[in-house]
Amino acid sequence: MRVEQPPATTPHASPSPLRQGGLILSFSVSRSLSADYEKMFGTKCHGCDFKIDAGDRFLEALGYSWHDSCFVCAVCQMNLEGKTFYSKKDKPLCKGHAFSPL
Ligand SMILES: [Zn+2]
Ligand SMILES: [Zn+2]
Repeated sequence: MRVEQPPATTPHASPSPLRQGGLILSFSVSRSLSADYEKMFGTKCHGCDFKIDAGDRFLEALGYSWHDSCFVCAVCQMNLEGKTFYSKKDKPLCKGHAFSPL
């Protein structure tokens, strides 16, 4: 004889997760992955001229991309991330060196 579960006494332990309807993006990555990758993520740091990788912290200033550690005053190498900076010939300069000759 089959014992039936009493109905409605046990709350649903695991409610079905909400599903978001939406687009399923499928990428075709077979062709020229490296070329596309280079185009998208191959941004060069204007400070050290090395590539900025996807996981690197970087910032954009003066129309270039920089590792956050490379965005330094061209004279004293002080890090200028988030600071007031000036620029001369596409080089960032700190306040103190902004008006001194390079
Ligand atoms: Zn750099
Ligand atoms: Zn400086």
